[in-house]
Amino acid sequence: MRKIQMVDLTSQYQEIKEQVNSSISQVLDTAAFINGPEVHKFQAQLETYVGAKHVIPCANGTDALQIAMMGLGLKPGDEVITADFTFAATVEVIALLQLTPVLVDVEPDTFNIDPICIEKAITPKTKAIVPVHLFGQCANMDAILELAEKHNLFVIEDNAQAIGADYTFANGQKQKAGTIGHVSATSFFPSKNLGCYGDGGAIFTNDDELAHTIRGMVNHGMYVRYHHDVVGVNSRLDSIQAAVLNAKLPNLDEYNNKRREAAQKYSKAFDGQENIIVPRTVGRCEEICDTCNCHVFHQYTLRILNADRDALVQHLNDKGIPCGVYYPIPLHRQKAYLDERYKEADFPITNQLVKEVISLPMHTELDDEQIAYITETVLGFLNNEA
Ligand SMILES: *Cc1c(COP(=O)(O)O)cnc(C)c1O
Repeated sequence: MRKIQMVDLTSQYQEIKEQVNSSISQVLDTAAFINGPEVHKFQAQLETYVGAKHVIPCANGTDALQIAMMGLGLKPGDEVITADFTFAATVEVIALLQLTPVLVDVEPDTFNIDPICIEKAITPKTKAIVPVHLFGQCANMDAILELAEKHNLFVIEDNAQAIGADYTFANGQKQKAGTIGHVSATSFFPSKNLGCYGDGGAIFTNDDELAHTIRGMVNHGMYVRYHHDVVGVNSRLDSIQAAVLNAKLPNLDEYNNKRREAAQKYSKAFDGQENIIVPRTVGRCEEICDTCNCHVFHQYTLRILNADRDALVQHLNDKGIPCGVYYPIPLHRQKAYLDERYKEADFPITNQLVKEVISLPMHTELDDEQIAYITETVLGFLNNEA
C-alpha cells in the first residue's frame, strides 16, 4: 500500500507535471513575474468557471478577506458576525481592521454558521455577516441573504474551503460558492481544493464599482499610476503561481469529484455505526450524491460520539494514518479574541464539536486500498472501545 498522506500533492503533481513545468518555464523565459499574462489568463478562466463578473487575484486568502472588508468601506467599531468554529484567519482580519468581531455558534450537522444565532447577534452596529463555507459545503445562504436584506448588511463569503461547490437555493436555482454574497474571498494555499505551489488568493464580486475599488486597493490604492487615492495594500498573485493555477483549474471538477468519491466510500464503510456521525450534505441531496457538487469535501470530518476522540487520533497515527482535528479550540476561547460579552452558554455546539471532530485523509489521490485500511482501522478502534 502507498504511504497514506493527509494531502498528497506529490502524486497529483506527477499527473500534471508537463503542463505545470511548461507554464512555469514560460514565465521564467519572459520574466513577467508580476501581473504577467498568466495572471490575466487565470483571472478570465476563473471568472468563466465560477460565473463571477469580477475575479481579483491577490496574495493569499487572508488578504482576500481583509481587502474585501476594506473595499466595502467597513469602519472601526462596525460589528461583523462570523462563525466561532472556523480557521482563525476569518476573525483575524476583522480584528486587524479594528472592526468588532461577533462570534456565533454553528449548526451541529453541517458545522456551518447558524442563521438563528446570527439573527440574535444583530445590533444597530452590525454591518456584515461572514459565512464560512466550512469543509467544502455552503452555509445556509437562503437564510443569510434574507437576514442581510432585512437588516441591510453586507454578506462576505469566506470561500477558502469550497471553491467549485454549488449552492442550491430553496427555489432550485444553483450558483457557485463565492458568487452569492456581495463579495467573497478564496485561497489557493497548496492544500486547498484548488491550490497553487505557494500562497495565492482571490476576491470575487459581481459589483462593478466594488471591483474597481478593490483592484486599486490590492495595488497600493493606485487607480492611475503613482496617484494613491485610498490606503491600499500590496497583495498580488504572482505569475508563477498563476501558471500553476492555469494548469490545475481545468481539472478542478475532476479533483472535486475524486474527493466526493472518497467521501462516499468513507461514509458507506461507516454506515450504521452508532458512535460515528458522518458528514451531512444539505439541500437537494441528503446523501453524498454522484451528480451534484453541493459538497466538495475540503475536509471529510466525522463526529466521534461516546469514545475518546484523542485516543483515536493517537491510534490512527500509530497505524500510519495521518488525521487532523479542525478545529480543536473555539475562536471565542482563543486568547487573541477573548471578549467579555461571550458566554459559554452561547456556544453549545462549537464547544461540543471541538471535542468530537476528526478529519480523515482527504485528497485526489486516495485509492481503495488506502480507504479500506483507514476505515477498518477507525472501526477496529471503536469496536474495541465499545
Ligand atoms: C485557508 C483559509 C483561509 C486563509 O487562506 P490563506 O490563503 O491561508 O491566507 C481563510 N479562511 C478559511 C476558512 C481557510 O480555510
